[in-house]
Amino acid sequence: MSRDKIVAGNWKMNNDSNQTKTLILELKKTMQMEANVMIAPSFTNLSIAKDLLLGSKIEVIAQNMHFSDSGAFTGEVSANMLKSIGIETVILGHSERRKYFNETDDQLKLKVDSAISSSMKIIFCIGEEIGERKNNNHFEIIYDQINNSLFHLDKDSWSRIILAYEPVWAIGTGETATLDQIQEMHSMIRKNISERYTQELANSISILYGGSVKPSNSHDIFSLEDVDGGLIGGASLNANDFNQIINSI
Ligand code: PEP
Repeated sequence: MSRDKIVAGNWKMNNDSNQTKTLILELKKTMQMEANVMIAPSFTNLSIAKDLLLGSKIEVIAQNMHFSDSGAFTGEVSANMLKSIGIETVILGHSERRKYFNETDDQLKLKVDSAISSSMKIIFCIGEEIGERKNNNHFEIIYDQINNSLFHLDKDSWSRIILAYEPVWAIGTGETATLDQIQEMHSMIRKNISERYTQELANSISILYGGSVKPSNSHDIFSLEDVDGGLIGGASLNANDFNQIINSI
């Protein structure tokens, strides 16, 4: 079964409007795409990025959203607002959101429901802390994160879900999970989905890996049986590195 190959760049809180323009122009110049490519600039630069990428196959996506449609939630942005500027995909559950903004599985479930009712796609991030892996709890943690925020969905809604396995200890640290650790977790995630739904559904879900992916390791990681691409942080801020990663798929 062929699944979508995806390379998504999470720019986090980096790049002002000028830096956004420069990086996008560099990416457009050199990119040859086998994969579906997405970039996630900050909210203030989404429209700028959309305009610069008009007619391009690079999709501009959001890093987060609130679960309500509108209301007294100072500083927040809703799915409707994103949709109104042409954003179709949102990253939810990134470990930095969970850690620094205390996002819980229950809140993420509400965000997932809101995104789906707005017909958006979701890159849903899951990942264990280093202590949880050392205690051999990593499979349980990942199962719980998926179960608590996604397993209430009906089968059809899963066509809008892309998963990103991002071990927290590998994000921004330069330390990548081993190929065995990555493949083992991705196949376990697929097994969990097949047990809750069907094997066919499990086989159709793109599962990305994230955590210190760089040009020197991306090809090996992307060649793993159950890896369908990557969510890239630091290396997506450099056009040359990001292009090399995209071309390694
Ligand atoms: C991320 O933040 O999603 C990520 C994978 O970061 P990095 O590639 O920098 O580890």
